[in-house]
Amino acid sequence: MARPLGAVRLKKANPFCVALGGFIFIFVVFFLFSSPTSTSTPSAQSPHSASLKRSKAPPVTRYNLNNVTITPDPVANREAVLVLTPMSRFYQEYWDNLLKLSYPHDLITLGFILPKTKEGNAATAELQKRVVEVQKGPEGNRFAGIVILRQDFEPAITSQDESERHKMENQKARRSVMAKARNSLLFTTLGPLTSWVLWLDADIIETPPTLIQDLASHNKPVLVPNCFQRYVDSDTGKPGERPYDYNNWQDSETAQKLAAKMGPDEILLEGYAEMGTYRPLMAFMETEKGGLHDEVPVDGVGGAALLVKADVHRDGAMFPPFAFYHLIETEGFAKMASRLGWQAYGLPNYRVYHYNE
Ligand code: GDP
Ligand code: MN
Repeated sequence: MARPLGAVRLKKANPFCVALGGFIFIFVVFFLFSSPTSTSTPSAQSPHSASLKRSKAPPVTRYNLNNVTITPDPVANREAVLVLTPMSRFYQEYWDNLLKLSYPHDLITLGFILPKTKEGNAATAELQKRVVEVQKGPEGNRFAGIVILRQDFEPAITSQDESERHKMENQKARRSVMAKARNSLLFTTLGPLTSWVLWLDADIIETPPTLIQDLASHNKPVLVPNCFQRYVDSDTGKPGERPYDYNNWQDSETAQKLAAKMGPDEILLEGYAEMGTYRPLMAFMETEKGGLHDEVPVDGVGGAALLVKADVHRDGAMFPPFAFYHLIETEGFAKMASRLGWQAYGLPNYRVYHYNE
């Protein structure tokens, strides 16, 4: 038979346990309600801890995207630019060039994503040092904001040597990881006030200081300059320049026919003898007498340096990490932008320079 539930008899409490319990209680209360320390970063605060601190109703902020202008004169119109860089290595030359950009720094937000590898850790440490220096330095050099992300997925290949990176069999996996890195960076940093996104690889070490103004002046949804590389001729010892990025191309019938025979997950690649696409490459479209600002339409783009109107990304154009019309990453992005009604262009005579390993 069940006994009726009577009053529960408590054993007499041990004074030591009472003291310990009290101490733990005070400790917990202190941590729940104490203000965050000055070293805490936004990423370290969980939404849960943020909600505990909220006493008033959360604010509602309205942004009218029609008021965010995207014009050929972005300096006069105080348009915000997001400079996005996937970074596996830190190059001082990249950083020096970035600081020399003459676009008002208070209108520029920088965003970086770095892999969680030994190299990525070293690059993060270097980057953080430089970021602190510039943000504490002269006011005119400081940027509006800087975001550093660490990748939450594995890098495709651990070796970043050029020969290993460019092997054809490594391309699909590598480009897919690069696409995910770019998408993570884009989707976590694009804000309601962003007018332009400048994609700038970490190994672009030389550009005109007016890069952003020059590219924006064309008023194109997607615009890519020509990426070259300086070198010293091993025979003559003379310095020269050679095309580096073959991902800026115009489509060809041959490439279309190759694609038509491919399986759904297969991708076309540019710059490999095994896969002759016969696409006209912007790398070789320079004209002797051509103007710096001559434009050509392109169907594929590289991401080494690339200016995109923020609306193109807002419309949904991203970097497919899968075969999209048999294209991947930045080349797939140009295709996606075009399917959304935004045509990409290139400037064959406007050069930016890639690091030479
Ligand atoms: P390539 O010039 O076409 O050979 O391409 P890179 O290897 O230079 O890669 C393009 C950009 O992405 C550079 O800024 C690299 O520093 C960066 N990068 C390369 N691999 C990774 C990676 O695994 N994760 C991230 N976050 N960035 C990477
Ligand atoms: Mn590169």
